[in-house]
Amino acid sequence: MKNIIILGATGSIGDSVLSVIRQNKEKLNLLGITFSSNISKAESIINEFKPKYTFTDSSESYNHLIHAFEKDAELNIFRDKSELEEILNNDQIDIIVSAISGFAGLQSTVIAAKTGKTILLANKESIVVAGEIILPLAKKFNTEIIPIDSEHNAIFQCLNSDKNTDDVSKIIITASGGPFLNKNISELSKVTKSEALNHPNWEMGAKITIDSASLVNKCLELIEARYLFELDEKFFDLVVHPQSIIHSIVTYKDGSSICQMSNPDMRVPIAHALSINNKRLNLDFSQIDFSSLSLTFQKIPEDRSQIFDIARYVCNNGGSSGTIFNAANEIAVQNFLKEQITFDKIYEVIYRTFNAVSMSKEVDIETIYEIDNQTRIEAKKVVKSLS
Ligand code: NAD
Ligand code: MG
Repeated sequence: MKNIIILGATGSIGDSVLSVIRQNKEKLNLLGITFSSNISKAESIINEFKPKYTFTDSSESYNHLIHAFEKDAELNIFRDKSELEEILNNDQIDIIVSAISGFAGLQSTVIAAKTGKTILLANKESIVVAGEIILPLAKKFNTEIIPIDSEHNAIFQCLNSDKNTDDVSKIIITASGGPFLNKNISELSKVTKSEALNHPNWEMGAKITIDSASLVNKCLELIEARYLFELDEKFFDLVVHPQSIIHSIVTYKDGSSICQMSNPDMRVPIAHALSINNKRLNLDFSQIDFSSLSLTFQKIPEDRSQIFDIARYVCNNGGSSGTIFNAANEIAVQNFLKEQITFDKIYEVIYRTFNAVSMSKEVDIETIYEIDNQTRIEAKKVVKSLS
């Protein structure tokens, strides 16, 4: 039996992980959850899976749960950050799913990297801002990181079993293109919030859905891949593949290209990452109908080259550049969702903020928090000037 804790259990990735656990109850057990919002969902998860540990940083959620489960002697409810560290280091836990959205996932991912357990990584933002700290920490503490972002999990599955990349000549990361595929940048000033939140292939949390529509998600994924697979950005190509069936492709130096395919369903990469001793889990998935399958590919739109140039700059320069890029994007997305700026201005906020905040080569976790804070202040000024 593998014991699992899900960080950000009440979100979209949380749902998918719970679905895989539900279908494999004899092998997987939910031992803990953390969350910030969505109390009613947390309550129903606790009622169904009976985890022993629940952590929430929201006092409203904490007070509600303490009251709702006062007669439940088996459930331990925590809200103090030091207790989170204790829970993640609990000997009974085997697997930590890092599924908080955005920069907020950094703290718990860093704690998880030091536990020597297995991390299933969805929170790409923590790698974008602190990949050069988290990956060495994981190595030092013998923590295994298995990506569950579908493209990275695909790459992981396409690599040889020792995950060595010496024979790799190219890695092609696919992008759905999102709801605005084939729209040029000038048309993006008129798109609405509900159009941006309506992804054609995937159902996800709001922040990543907007990132997918702007293609910034692909920028974050390029940076994530560069750190996870320890390869120069030149190894990575990006291609638009609107059907989201091929999740990524690894081309070897002898000319073989290996890809991983499935219908778009996050439970597939999650089930792979939860497989035990190389034995695959059962999943009630929707089979690809190969007899009627038509796959198409197209170039990443050229009018978005500036944002990808910044992402490649981050890959090559590291330091504080990932934090600045990520924080500028988070503020831009938040303000688009509050309808303070139009969709096309997301890029403008990132460009202007990225140029305004000075970079440093060396960072530690404390300076990342300082730079994140400073960048958010700057990005808010840019938003104000644009709205
Ligand atoms: P979501 O918004 O649906 O859920 C986020 C979860 O994090 C919720 O449980 C929320 O309560 C919790 N949370 C938010 N802020 C928090 C805080 N400050 N402290 C503690 N918990 C907090 O997000 P999601 O779509 O599930 O995405 C989660 C992560 O997975 C993101 O980094 C995203 O990029 C990545 N990801 C998601 C998908 C997907 O299909 N949803 C696919 C690939 C990668
Ligand atoms: Mg992805």
